[in-house]
Amino acid sequence: EALRKIVVIGEILVEIMADDRGEGFLTPIALTGPFPSGAPAIFVDQCARLGQPAAIVSAIGNDDFGRLNLERLKADGVDTSAIYIDDDRPTGTAFVRYRHDGRRDFVFNIAHAACGKLHRGDATDRVLASADHIHVMGSSLSSPEFSGFVVSSAQSVKKRGGTVSFDPNMRKEILNANGIKEAMASVLAVTDLYLPSDEELFLLGDSSDIDAAVTQLLSGGISAVVHKRGVKGATYYDSNRSHTVSAYPVVEVDPTGAGDCFGATFATMWLRGTDPETALRLAAAAGALAVTRRGPMEGASDMSALTDLINTSKSAS
Ligand code: ATP
Ligand code: MG
Repeated sequence: EALRKIVVIGEILVEIMADDRGEGFLTPIALTGPFPSGAPAIFVDQCARLGQPAAIVSAIGNDDFGRLNLERLKADGVDTSAIYIDDDRPTGTAFVRYRHDGRRDFVFNIAHAACGKLHRGDATDRVLASADHIHVMGSSLSSPEFSGFVVSSAQSVKKRGGTVSFDPNMRKEILNANGIKEAMASVLAVTDLYLPSDEELFLLGDSSDIDAAVTQLLSGGISAVVHKRGVKGATYYDSNRSHTVSAYPVVEVDPTGAGDCFGATFATMWLRGTDPETALRLAAAAGALAVTRRGPMEGASDMSALTDLINTSKSAS
């Protein structure tokens, strides 16, 4: 049986990060970058690294930041045919500085960058028509134009027998911006695999109890929920059972991208019909390896790196 193709719609950025921890960007500081980034781009790159057919619908500028991303995604096996090159807008950027407490300060250029404008053409239609599975990132629902496009794309894949995964990737503060809550609810209504992290589990429901929130989600048509809990590990739920894995002990260098690599690995294995325990273990290995590398996409792994980590920690315990 042919492997199912995963398509994501969303932002491609470069990340440029401060070398030292501290507050913001109000004085000249040393920076390192550009690194390829954007949650949907990291997700699709990790899928392709595992050998899954995968494509991204996005846009970059006609500049080196765009070329850097394009070359990386191509080299890792992503179908880049629906990445539009915009001559009028630069590639999106995120400047990031970690504070001492682990929180991050950002300067973003996304809404007014290439990826902030929707480009619909033959290449986009072809890629969407080839999708067996759509993965939706909450971060890509930021404008009514994008959320309408993402929601209708997910609905049409679903209508022809495909599947949908959803990472809300959303802070409560943004949820009240225009139309986002409604867009999230529309995506959730067609979601098969839901991948919230921490308190995102409670974003749309009316409960603050884990079991109640999961029950509510599973009764609404979602077939599996995977709750990401950072260094505390992750838990899988379906209507029959739950299963928890702890996080693999690694030295955390840069936590950005862990959730995307984890989700991409779980979704890929889930599409291949792998049992949830194995899928969860591989996903946790992908999340762990992601944090060991500086740069959000640098920590994406191939299958042998995942099984190496799993086997190493087995023999250590
Ligand atoms: P992101 O910050 O990328 O949005 P997220 O909140 O979506 O991440 P996390 O829960 O932080 O997702 O990470 C996903 C998974 O990756 C975790 O469930 C865990 O298995 C693994 N992971 C994350 N951080 C670490 C870590 N420091 N050490 C080991 N494993 C980790
Ligand atoms: Mg997340």
